Amino acid sequence: MRYVSTRSESGDPGLPFCDILLQGLAPDGGLYMPLQYPSIDPHTLEVWRTLLTEHGYAAVAFEVLRLFADDIPEADLRGICERAYATEVFGDPVVPVTEMEGGLWLAHLSNGPTAAFKDMAMQLLGQLFEYELSRRGQVLNILGATSGDTGSAAEYAMLGRHGITVFMLSPQGRMSPFQQAQMFSLNDPRIVNLAVDGVFDDCQDLVKEVNADASFKVRHSLGAVNSINWARVVAQVVYYVVGYLRVTAETGGVIDVSVPTGNFGNICAAHIARQMGLPLGQLVLATNENNVLDEFFRTGVYRVRSSAEETSSPSMDISKASNFERFIFDLFGRDGARVRSIFAADLPGSGAVDLSGTPEFAAIAQRYGIVSGSSSHADRLATIAQVADHDGYVLDPHTADAVKVGRHYARPGSRCWSPKPHCR
Ligand SMILES: *Cc1c(COP(=O)(O)O)cnc(C)c1O
Repeated sequence: MRYVSTRSESGDPGLPFCDILLQGLAPDGGLYMPLQYPSIDPHTLEVWRTLLTEHGYAAVAFEVLRLFADDIPEADLRGICERAYATEVFGDPVVPVTEMEGGLWLAHLSNGPTAAFKDMAMQLLGQLFEYELSRRGQVLNILGATSGDTGSAAEYAMLGRHGITVFMLSPQGRMSPFQQAQMFSLNDPRIVNLAVDGVFDDCQDLVKEVNADASFKVRHSLGAVNSINWARVVAQVVYYVVGYLRVTAETGGVIDVSVPTGNFGNICAAHIARQMGLPLGQLVLATNENNVLDEFFRTGVYRVRSSAEETSSPSMDISKASNFERFIFDLFGRDGARVRSIFAADLPGSGAVDLSGTPEFAAIAQRYGIVSGSSSHADRLATIAQVADHDGYVLDPHTADAVKVGRHYARPGSRCWSPKPHCR
């Protein structure tokens, strides 16, 4: 499998998985995408169903990953998946599902080391990075900024990984006490926490400033683990396959998924799984008050905000959806020139693109199954209270956003499951 940038010229032969693994943005400013999606036919899915029952999540992760990372020898890739999704890391089973009232299921994604959904992808990334760095005889200094979740998930995933040092900037006194305890209690010379006197955006600006200095970056082997990394997206494809298999145990059929998303990472993985042939019906995209994506899917206008609003589902507080360009690439027939023209000026400040008049936009729901909605603080509280009363289960606020929007689109007799980011 080879990968090209969403802004590439047609005919670009692309690069293998291991060559894009350690990269963030492609040199032309686009995001890496596989040249084509591998397909999963019904027979393969039944084989994987048996594999899941007999050998668990890591075995299915290997089957999915090998379709995308065929330049890693199979025995090595199997080991990577087994270590990333070991019982000691995620418990057993990995990604259990729970049936709720009215045909709704929850897929539990927060049983990893930091109790954050980000662990699902980050643990695999830690294993892949260590593997590839040692193969190349290189080291990597990961520089990141966090408001909570991503920083701790990254630190726990990279901790003890040979050749990797993490420098993580966070806004002093602004993370939850739980996240501060998680990060600041790590006593390892290769995990460096830097508390910045400022807000999250100040931390991110510092990282951007350092990254703008190309020669400094090269000299110090700087890298990132941000959400545009392709391996993070592909790691998330796996839990859609496993969630599907668990919810449809024995029976098969089509299910809808309702997905809480901000950066278009979580829903991008659902989109890819569906394109690969996983029988997903509707992909319900749920945002919070930061509804950049919901606005696009309702109106065709993608309008980057100048700043994100602070909400009670903070891991989806974004002003710009960093993986969205991947979907636009598919939407416009993988035409890199078209994508380049759409994102040409990188939408500085609060720029907007209007795709409402295009036939591609008009066909989204029909062709890609994507429908969207957003949820407010009041919706979140009401949904959490209602589910707690009815099912005796306390949802985290991001899941509540997905449950709220998912219920709006629920189809009689259909089954729906929601990847549930936090369950503790
Ligand atoms: C990161 C995150 C999301 C959304 O992920 P995207 O990559 O923005 O789609 C949802 N819920 C929780 C708890 C998260 O941490």
